[in-house]
Amino acid sequence: MKEKQIKDIKKFLSSPKKISIIPHKNPDGDAIGSSLGLMHYLKKGQHSVRVISPNEYPNFLKWMPGNDEVIKFDYQEELAKKILRESDLIFTLDFNSLNRIEEMKPFLENLDVDFAMIDHHQQPDEYAKYMYSDVSMSATCEMIYHFISFLDGTDKIDADIATCLYAGIMTDTGSFRFSSTTSTTHRIIADLIERGAKNTEIHNAIYDSNSIDKLHLLGVALNNLVFLKEYNTVYITLTKTELDKYNFKKGDTEGFVNYGLSIEGVKLSIIFIENNDGDYIKISLRSKGSFSVNEMARTHFNGGGHINAAGGRSDANMSDTIKKLEAILPSYKNDLQ
Ligand code: 5GP
Ligand code: MN
Repeated sequence: MKEKQIKDIKKFLSSPKKISIIPHKNPDGDAIGSSLGLMHYLKKGQHSVRVISPNEYPNFLKWMPGNDEVIKFDYQEELAKKILRESDLIFTLDFNSLNRIEEMKPFLENLDVDFAMIDHHQQPDEYAKYMYSDVSMSATCEMIYHFISFLDGTDKIDADIATCLYAGIMTDTGSFRFSSTTSTTHRIIADLIERGAKNTEIHNAIYDSNSIDKLHLLGVALNNLVFLKEYNTVYITLTKTELDKYNFKKGDTEGFVNYGLSIEGVKLSIIFIENNDGDYIKISLRSKGSFSVNEMARTHFNGGGHINAAGGRSDANMSDTIKKLEAILPSYKNDLQ
């Protein structure tokens, strides 16, 4: 974050303010962890703080301290709008384009309130007065740690903040294995443990809370997996019928796409999931090495993200969407070798 911006936001936060914090739609561990971590920190500065999520999120994220205070824009729209209207500043965390909050976008665009963005995705839009954007960061939660150290020093980080930030760094780095994980990430993690994050409990709460239906759905996904050896590519499909059979709940397919990358030599893995209303297909893309799924998602699937993890959507049906993938793969053949 630029010195001048740090100075300005520090000055702004030197007296109690009304602050809202928004994670992206369908928030993941990093989005919820960073929002709640920042909420706990700002409350210590006597600010009045609310986290407003665009929509609901999976149960495996609902144990974090402060979770009960989160407002869902889609269920509590009037309350959420009132709070946003009365805010002195709105933080947008773990996203960098108002497109990522879909239904909330028109309301926020017409609001006369300043924004602060903290995010690690590529190609940020310019809507924020205070902007901390760094694509080299492993997680927005890692950035919240730095943000607190810029403003106040990390001594302000208590067990609640540490727990939320640990959870977000852990989930966004695939438990500290993705290439975005640096020695600094590990130093921060060490510090968060010293400040009260209980690492084993956090891992258990997130990864060992599966239902039997979810594991059966994973079985279906793995059975549907197609390996296109020529392109070192794997894709997985899940139809609405398959999701219904195993009582799909939000978050149940989290991580499925990563299994494709565990096949030796595979550089690209994609999962296509029919959304609940059956009107579009949600796409998650993962890659290894320098192959940019951000570019692929932006160019062909109306999405974006990072080099090695991106998402998007298709308004065509499943078979046309797969045909589209097969049609574009030849142009990526060299990059996938
Ligand atoms: P996931 O596949 O887990 O939903 O998302 C992987 C990464 O891509 C995340 O960093 C997420 O923020 C980003 N992403 C997912 N879906 C979309 C999308 O529709 N548009 C954009 N721009 N990014 C996305
Ligand atoms: Mn993130």
